[in-house]
Amino acid sequence: MSKRIESKHLDIYYGSFKAVEDVSMTIEPRSVTAFIGPSGCGKSTFLRSLNRMHEVIPGAHVEGQLLLDGEDLYGPGVDPVNVRRQIGMVFQRPNPFPTMSIKENVLAGLKLNNKRISASEADDIAEKALRGANLWEEVKNRLDLPGSGLSGGQQQRLCIARAIAMAPDVLLMDEPCSALDPISTLAIEDLIGELKANYTIVIVTHNMQQAARVSDTTAFFNIAGTGHPGKLIEMDRTEKIFHNPAEKSTEDYITGRFG
Ligand code: ADP
Repeated sequence: MSKRIESKHLDIYYGSFKAVEDVSMTIEPRSVTAFIGPSGCGKSTFLRSLNRMHEVIPGAHVEGQLLLDGEDLYGPGVDPVNVRRQIGMVFQRPNPFPTMSIKENVLAGLKLNNKRISASEADDIAEKALRGANLWEEVKNRLDLPGSGLSGGQQQRLCIARAIAMAPDVLLMDEPCSALDPISTLAIEDLIGELKANYTIVIVTHNMQQAARVSDTTAFFNIAGTGHPGKLIEMDRTEKIFHNPAEKSTEDYITGRFG
């Protein structure tokens, strides 16, 4: 399942500091949306607010509305743990659990959520998730060996397998290739291209070529200066943003004149 995200006038705070201001956007299902913009403009903060990871920091909160297929993710009675199950996340540095085997890593999220699954069901879920993450062929003969024994690129695909084992609607990726070599980066980019058939994907990237290669839609964020909140400047089809942006600041950024 793949769902639409809508943010409406979202403000995001760390205590009294407003890090992101008034973001309204629609993120379409079965597509890849890239967030670009200079460091500190709030891309990661906005991304983490989408699955309620932001609020784990003391004092961190949001104002405004965030909808997943029309349902208010910050509504009263909504369990943030359930939101994070529906909206999975992959981080900059691959973070497999070091003491767990490859298979245990894939199933870790399910176990944390106290799902009772039989051994054969577990095997099926692990295989499907590893196939989905383009990792199965490389690891099928060593499923019981530690996940930490894999290469960086394989570890990142393992983390993607762990995320998709939860059958999420949305996958958030915060610079998922920044710790990877160019070959592993291409493998992840290819994988993102395949995953968008089934998921809503949002990726934060510093790498403009990557945004141009993998995304259908690009959102450009900017910041007026230190201490100011980051804002969404424009969002459009990736081709339009890179070839004919509406705003001068977008053009300056993508042509490397600042940031
Ligand atoms: P980006 O991802 O675009 O580089 P961030 O979302 O990391 O930007 O940061 C946006 C703003 O929020 C920055 O001013 C940053 O210093 C601030 N910020 C990020 N994380 C925290 C935190 N844990 N506590 C307080 N401020 C933070």
